[in-house]
Amino acid sequence: MTTSQQHFTLREQAQRFLSREVHHHFIDGQRVPANSGQTLTTVNPSTGEALALLGAGDQFDVERAVVAARTAFNGPWSTWTPYDRQALLTRIAQILDERFEELIQIEALDMGAPVTRLRNTKPALLKMLSFFASQAANISGETLMNGIPGNVTTMTLKAPVGVIGGIIPWNGPLNSQFWIIGAVLASGCTTVLKPSEDASLSVLRVAEVLHEAGTPAGVINVVTGLGKDAGHALASHPDVDRIAFTGSTQTGRSIIQASAVNIKKLQLELGGKSADIVCSDADLDKAVPGAAMGVFANSGQICFAGTRVLVQRPIVDEFTERLLQFMDSLRVGHSLDDAATLGPIISQPQLDKVLSYIDVGRNEGAELLRGGHRLGGELGNGYFLQPSVFTGVTNQMRIAREEIFGPVLSILPFDDVDEAIAIANDSDYGLGGAVWSQSLSTALRVVHGVHTGTMWVNCYGYIDPLVGFSGTKLSGYGSKGSAAHMDTYLYTKSVYMEL
Ligand code: NAD
Repeated sequence: MTTSQQHFTLREQAQRFLSREVHHHFIDGQRVPANSGQTLTTVNPSTGEALALLGAGDQFDVERAVVAARTAFNGPWSTWTPYDRQALLTRIAQILDERFEELIQIEALDMGAPVTRLRNTKPALLKMLSFFASQAANISGETLMNGIPGNVTTMTLKAPVGVIGGIIPWNGPLNSQFWIIGAVLASGCTTVLKPSEDASLSVLRVAEVLHEAGTPAGVINVVTGLGKDAGHALASHPDVDRIAFTGSTQTGRSIIQASAVNIKKLQLELGGKSADIVCSDADLDKAVPGAAMGVFANSGQICFAGTRVLVQRPIVDEFTERLLQFMDSLRVGHSLDDAATLGPIISQPQLDKVLSYIDVGRNEGAELLRGGHRLGGELGNGYFLQPSVFTGVTNQMRIAREEIFGPVLSILPFDDVDEAIAIANDSDYGLGGAVWSQSLSTALRVVHGVHTGTMWVNCYGYIDPLVGFSGTKLSGYGSKGSAAHMDTYLYTKSVYMEL
């Protein structure tokens, strides 16, 4: 079969999946209707039309899924060796490689990212699975010296934490679920995933594919539903050991409170307002597209988007002119349009929120240079916004302080590097950030000076599981990737043996 024939077949499979009457939860290896019998409608953001019905999960569905996950955790899954779990992850990577086109069709229709963008994410996903496969066979404790009289041997063992509640946002669930699934399978934990009510379909499909690939029933479960119902039930469930949450800072606070019931371990990957610092000696051929796509990629719906673009005063005019020229090359379109580089905003409420920030920026005195309005014509029924640029922005304005989560870039001038660092740090958030400069000493000064979880130099947005990615301040805590990620799915047991 040629690649285009394969893609045709996989698209048909995606359509068959999408045509199901109701997308039920996936619990204990089976599709399970919601206890309430209620459904939620999920919408294709490119057309504004209903795409699918999801089970409206509640505490009863979460209870059933947690029981399945606990039973699997205590069952034969616990006897799988690291090599078995590694082989499973390797098999999953092969299957995802073969079926990727099916999954991205579902994802594109569900959350609006263009297939052109999603196709490019395949190497990152396969790399992530390869990382977790390597971690599965790399879990180790230590033997330790001690000061205990007599013949006492001491060591530490690493053991899987247990049942993980995974609460996922809508801005890239196909990829982001694997930060949880990969660590769960590598460590020997089990999970109940609660995807966003706005984009659950790729998570449901992946659970089925993983089950077909040999993941035992109960290891990966998915309960769909609203955050206040299914999400809250998961965060407050007394038999869930740990919550891996990615989402807004506001929801992160609710999760902290709900999880107090049994002192759950938490990983919180929250919002951001990252500063992208362009110095006057930057290579603008790289800095302009880099800074632009650091905001506009995924239509600005990326947690680490560098939405505050700090530009050194002597090059503000040149940078701005070249930015607007670069933006002419961006094509906003339907997520299945092979020529589209940017898709819609996820939903009408999120579009309204972004548009309201455009008004806030204007009212605060910033100058809107480009965009700021919903697109009409053949895109008029979808939630499309033209990428937007504000200039004359000060760091005190709300558009520079609050997370907009849409394609809105603000240009803030600065005089010297110390001022740029001070502006970057004058934020409640600390997620991403970048500096563009041809001077290594300037770049390193900024890297050391900015209080943020991740910094890029002369590039934007690389994430490699071997290196990791994390936040600080209101952007949360806990690393994605690196050995630190695996550590949070394991606990350490200290062992004293008198021989
Ligand atoms: P959100 O906080 O509204 O929802 C995230 C998830 O939490 C959804 O599944 C939702 O149903 C659930 N939820 C909502 N209320 C809940 C509650 N009370 N209890 C339990 N669960 C609840 O976020 P969103 O709008 O889906 O996603 C956008 C946000 O996610 C942005 O703030 C973005 O910065 C952040 N994000 C962060 C990262 C990161 O790595 N730091 C990555 C992606 C997105």
